[in-house]
Amino acid sequence: MNIINLGNTMFRNYLLQFDNGCILIDAGYKTSYSAFLKKLGEVGIELSDIKYIFLTHVHNDHISYLKELLEAGVPIILHSHAKGRLLRGQNVLGDCSTFLSKFFSVLTKLTGKSNERWQEINAEDAIVCDGKADILRENGFPLSIVELPGHTPDTIGLMTDDGKLFCGDMTMNCFPAIKRKTLLIEDIDKYKQSWQKIIELTPLTLYPCHGKPFPVDDMVRYQPEVNNLILWRNK
Ligand SMILES: [Zn+2]
Repeated sequence: MNIINLGNTMFRNYLLQFDNGCILIDAGYKTSYSAFLKKLGEVGIELSDIKYIFLTHVHNDHISYLKELLEAGVPIILHSHAKGRLLRGQNVLGDCSTFLSKFFSVLTKLTGKSNERWQEINAEDAIVCDGKADILRENGFPLSIVELPGHTPDTIGLMTDDGKLFCGDMTMNCFPAIKRKTLLIEDIDKYKQSWQKIIELTPLTLYPCHGKPFPVDDMVRYQPEVNNLILWRNK
């Protein structure tokens, strides 16, 4: 498997390349469809090589050119909770995991950058993966789907057989996120459970969408803090 990042350091847009095709994880942030196609061409991949889009969750920074990909007929794999959110056309934002997260949340509201909207996306033909960890494996890609609710209820990750876990926004590894915690959390109890679930899965390396990959040891190190986490209301 070859890992290609079509995004940048802060907003990673991973493309997993196998002999039998590619899996695209999410659909970019503030990236036009034409810019995406150009970037794809630059790494020598054609749109027809992408066999599935794997949507880690519905937030505006993960779905920039999703609508166009769906219209182009690329199958999408998502959690059932994602469908309604795509139709809603607006972020659902959780509460803040740290004071710094709260500070930046207030700042983005003041600058008018919060609650970003998008034109409704109809994903009624999407492949729903709830409880079906092996859908991709059954279709020739050695990847397991892992449900990781907490940041959002529709958060899902992808794990390779050699211990790489692509985990969406379940964890983060760049400022202003600290100690690998995601910035916003909708359900704190489920978030703590998902943290524990990752540790039990024993991946070697986590690949968040925001920031560099990091070793699972960090999840163990920061777990006591996560277990005592109290959220700052994001209102
Ligand atoms: Zn998110």
